[in-house]
Amino acid sequence: MRASASNLASHPDVVVIGGGPAGSTVSALIAQRGYRVQLFERERFPRFHIGESLIPETYWVLERLGMLDKLRESHFVKKYSVQFINANGKQSAPFYFWDNKAHQCSQTWQVVRSEFDLMMLNNAREHGVEAHEGVRVRDVLFEGPRAVGVRIQRADGSQQDVQARVIVDASGQSGLLQNKFKLRVWDPVLNKGAIWTYWQGAYRDTGRDEGATLVLQTANRQGWFWYIPLHDDRVSVGVVAPFDYLFKGRVSHEQTYQDEVDCCPAVKDRVSAGRRVTGYFATKVYSYRATQVAGDAWVLVGDAFGFLDPLYSSGVLLALRSGEMAADAIVEGFQLGDVSAAQLGKWGPVFNQGVDRMRRLVCEYYDGFSFGQFVRTYPHLRGTITDLLIGDLFTDRVDSVWPPMESLYPEGKAPPPPWDSGTSPQHTQNKANELILPEGHRP
Ligand SMILES: Cc1cc2nc3c(=O)[nH]c(=O)nc-3n(C[C@H](O)[C@H](O)[C@H](O)COP(=O)(O)OP(=O)(O)OC[C@H]3O[C@@H](n4cnc5c(N)ncnc54)[C@H](O)[C@@H]3O)c2cc1C
Repeated sequence: MRASASNLASHPDVVVIGGGPAGSTVSALIAQRGYRVQLFERERFPRFHIGESLIPETYWVLERLGMLDKLRESHFVKKYSVQFINANGKQSAPFYFWDNKAHQCSQTWQVVRSEFDLMMLNNAREHGVEAHEGVRVRDVLFEGPRAVGVRIQRADGSQQDVQARVIVDASGQSGLLQNKFKLRVWDPVLNKGAIWTYWQGAYRDTGRDEGATLVLQTANRQGWFWYIPLHDDRVSVGVVAPFDYLFKGRVSHEQTYQDEVDCCPAVKDRVSAGRRVTGYFATKVYSYRATQVAGDAWVLVGDAFGFLDPLYSSGVLLALRSGEMAADAIVEGFQLGDVSAAQLGKWGPVFNQGVDRMRRLVCEYYDGFSFGQFVRTYPHLRGTITDLLIGDLFTDRVDSVWPPMESLYPEGKAPPPPWDSGTSPQHTQNKANELILPEGHRP
């Protein structure tokens, strides 16, 4: 049942800003422990969102959320592998997750996010979360350094202050608190853009390959395409390339997309039998992170904390894992009577290390890393590199891949520069990545 924003229970324990995967996760896991949670989402669901390919390590959080049976009963396409196709059209062998881990977690899903996000939000409601749609959080309220509540605005323009013991910012790329405190640090190297559309009747593999994510490099090596088969015979096909290359001095998103398809015969062949069923979506995809995950009585989760280039489809996993880690820290904080920045943000260093590992794999790909060459040279590391691809990021066991990877560098090449946590001059640029929807498409 949907809660009414005009009838707010006073003083919940936790207020969550945003009802995407991060907000639904953190709120459901806190409510499971008996605390009162109110969530405010500015849109009305279902609403469009990009980010359709899940990776296997989402399984463990989805299990805690009680979402697995719902996903199994859904019509979402089952995903068993990821496969890379290089600029010459040469395919790596698929990385089958099951071969690496013979467990049901090795099958995941390609989801339509409007449907998946609604399932997640309704699941949070089933756990007792009072979730209000069409209610925007205008500001987080502070007494000194400590967050004490939020100011909400309903669709009719009326405003109200809601107090809570902890505020979780899960507002996605709009990053309410990141902007308020200028916490956003742009990644020094990952500054891309993306253009995508949806096809019906385009090529699909069969059997366990039907739901594979394909990553296809363009012939000029400037960018890559994602090819994500969805249900109802649709395929999401998008190109990612340096922002300036994709958007500066170009005629239109449509023309640029067509040019890039022409530059990638493996995509051109696959979509040729299909019919385009939407217009062209576009966005800046600059990676970023905040300089801190938490303050006194507030915490950031999902894209409201950080966003990583979509190459390996890690965004929803990072939203779920940060939501989970934050929920555990908040519940423990309530039990200890401690909602300080140190308590609420204790998961930050481990989480950042995990993101750093995925980030390094992203940078290596853009720097010419070849999965095929790597597994041919180091076949015993195929499992470990697959661990990274499935999102098993929060363990130093996977760090054994880096020295062998460096051994394949051409002379003079150095490892990618690390993300800089606060001293970067880019610190002050706070304009978020902005999604451009095709004409007539409802957000
Ligand atoms: C081009 C591209 C491709 C991607 N591909 C993938 C992929 O294949 N797989 C993958 O896992 N990830 C992918 N991602 C990343 C993924 O989309 C995000 O990481 C994920 O959606 C983050 O979830 P979230 O809950 O943090 O934020 P969101 O899903 O953005 O949710 C935030 C919510 O907060 C609401 N909100 C914002 N401000 C307010 C406010 N003031 N008051 C109330 N509500 C508010 C918004 O309406 C929104 O519903 C991709 C991203 C891009 C840009």
